[in-house]
Amino acid sequence: MPRYVGRFAPSPTGALHAGSLVAALASWLDARAHGGRWLVRIEDVDAPRCVPGADRLILRQLADCGLLPDEPPLYQSTRGALYQQALDDLASRGLAYPCGCSRKAIESEWQRLGRVKPRHGELVYPGTCRPERGGLQGRAARAWRLRVEPGVVHWNDRRLGPQSQDVAAEVGDFVLRRADGCYAYQLAVVVDDGAQGVTHIVRGEDLADNTARQIVLQRQLGLPTPQYLHTPLVRDAHGEKLSKQTGAQPLDTGNALAALAAAAAVLELDVSAPTVGDWLAQATQQWAARWARPAMAASDSPA
Ligand code: GLU
Repeated sequence: MPRYVGRFAPSPTGALHAGSLVAALASWLDARAHGGRWLVRIEDVDAPRCVPGADRLILRQLADCGLLPDEPPLYQSTRGALYQQALDDLASRGLAYPCGCSRKAIESEWQRLGRVKPRHGELVYPGTCRPERGGLQGRAARAWRLRVEPGVVHWNDRRLGPQSQDVAAEVGDFVLRRADGCYAYQLAVVVDDGAQGVTHIVRGEDLADNTARQIVLQRQLGLPTPQYLHTPLVRDAHGEKLSKQTGAQPLDTGNALAALAAAAAVLELDVSAPTVGDWLAQATQQWAARWARPAMAASDSPA
């Protein structure tokens, strides 16, 4: 077994809110409970959505809560050459192809086929620009897509249990590099988790749906699949997931113990201590009792 490496990977689109601290704390606790390393990666590939200074704010909020990474944070904006290398590699093996379809073109194609396939407001890609269907046919390349073969991807979430998704049917050939030139989250996250040797991914449940796509990409790039644990989401008074887009309040880490206590309640930890250091030590013990031993026993047992 490679040594445990975990990470928290915030997008610097604003300050941490109560929901993002849950994911940050859980990933930190899981790393500490396994005696592993904990990294922070600033996911600033989606340049148009990044807010200047949000990275420093997030790092300060984490530090206020005692969540200090074991290495200087990695910035995805510095890693374009690696993402391009992975894309070139996939393209050279016929696994990625350029796509000239706008959203409108994809909608019209589904209409022509007599079907509408919505998916979280996105459309399953109907494969229009696949090379065997004629490729770009004179249109300019907009995005690059991964060729997804049919078949169900099965994976196990340490909290949610067995999961599966037929990526080809439910998502289709997904985007690796967007029409605006930005590398897609799926490509950047898989390349970086692989390059950083991440063995355990602990993140919010809203991201669980991306996992099967990331596993498909890991397999195509010859990268190992980490273990996953998706944490419960924090909801607002209307039952909506807290998010920066829906105007979640920035987290006040001036009172770090109160912020940590709220995150701990979501994770069903019951911790009370006078200092952040003591609080984190107690929380680590509770986390280890719940999540580290069974997970280690499971992976240690013969297949
Ligand atoms: N950057 C992503 C976000 O902030 C998280 C990526 C991940 O943990 O895989 O939603």
